[in-house]
Amino acid sequence: MRFADIIGNRSVADAMASMADSGRVPHAMLLYENEGCGALALALAFVQYLNCSAPVGGDSCGECPSCRQMSRLIHPDVHFVFPVNKGPKTSDEKPTSESYIKYWRELAIADPYFVEADLQKAIGIESKNGLIAVAEARNIISKLSLTAVADGYKAVIFYLPEKMNQETANRLLKMVEEPPVNTIFLFITHAPEKVLQTIFSRCQSIRVLPLSREERERVEVQKPTADNEERDLFMDLFSDLMRAVTSRDLTSALECGDAMAALESREKQKAFCAFASECIRKIFMIQQKLPQLADVAPEEEEFYQEMASKCVKGFCTRSITNIEKVVAMIDRNVSSKILFCDLVNRMFVNI
Ligand SMILES: [Zn+2]
Repeated sequence: MRFADIIGNRSVADAMASMADSGRVPHAMLLYENEGCGALALALAFVQYLNCSAPVGGDSCGECPSCRQMSRLIHPDVHFVFPVNKGPKTSDEKPTSESYIKYWRELAIADPYFVEADLQKAIGIESKNGLIAVAEARNIISKLSLTAVADGYKAVIFYLPEKMNQETANRLLKMVEEPPVNTIFLFITHAPEKVLQTIFSRCQSIRVLPLSREERERVEVQKPTADNEERDLFMDLFSDLMRAVTSRDLTSALECGDAMAALESREKQKAFCAFASECIRKIFMIQQKLPQLADVAPEEEEFYQEMASKCVKGFCTRSITNIEKVVAMIDRNVSSKILFCDLVNRMFVNI
C-alpha cells in the first residue's frame, strides 16, 4: 500500500510522510477512525514508506524487496495483532492473531478498508466476540526482542486495542513505553474512549477523518461484492422498518424486528445497528436543514425526505440512543429476539 493508493485523508497521509521524512517518528501512535475510513491503509502505507529502500516523491517505491513484502503483508519485521477467539478455522485452543494470520492477510490485501464484521467473518468467528488476550502480548514481546531481519523499522500494527483486557495491556505497557530502537506501535481504534488509559496516554493520537461521499463510493467500488449485497439487504430492512413504524403498522414493524434478530450472527446484528444509526442520523440532518451533512445518494433522496417529514422531533436522537443500548446488550449475550422486539416497540412509541 502506497500513500498514493489511499482514498481521502490526504492531510493525514502528508503528516505521516513528513514525520517519516523528519526522522521524528513517534514510537506509539493511535489512529482513530469511524470504521472503514482507511486507518489500516494509512498504517500500512506509513510502515511501507518507513521501510522502503528507494522512496520517491514522498512515497514508497512499491517495487523494492521491502515494498514487495509489504504488499503481501509478509514483511518479517511487521507484525499484526487483532481480536480473535476460538473457531473452526484453527485448532489452537488458545488462538492468537498468529493462528489466523493467513486469513488476515487475504482480507487486508483484498480490502484494506474492511470493517470489524468482515474480519470476524474472514476468521470464522462471526458468532463470538473477538478479544486480545495475554498470550498475544507475550508473542509480541518475544518477536520484538529479536533483532530486526532487515535494516528498517520493526512495527506492530495493532487493530482494535479496545478489545484488549487489563492483563494484556499491563504486559505490553513497558514495551509500548520504551520499545527497542526503531520499533513502533500503530494502534487502530474505533472507540478511543474504550482504549485503556495506560495505553492511550502513551500514544500520539491521529484522527482519521470520515470519508466524503465521493471517497466512500471509490472505496465501495474496490470492495469485494458481498459487501454491496449486505448494504442492500440492510437498506431494505431499514426502509421496511421505518415505513412500518411511520405508518403505525405494529405487526409489520415487529416482523422487521424478527428479521433483525434473525441476522446470522451477533456481528451482523451489530453491523445492522451501526447502519441503522447512520441512516437515522441522515434523517436527523435533513430535519435540521443540513442536507449536505446527510449526504444522501440521489436514488434514496425521496425515502429520506419522506422519513424526515414523518418522524417527530426527538425521534432520531432517542432512536440512536436506543440502538446504542441494543449494541451494548448484544455484547452481553441478551436474547436478540427480545432486544430487537423491544427496540421496535420503543421506536413505535416514539414516532
Ligand atoms: Zn520500496
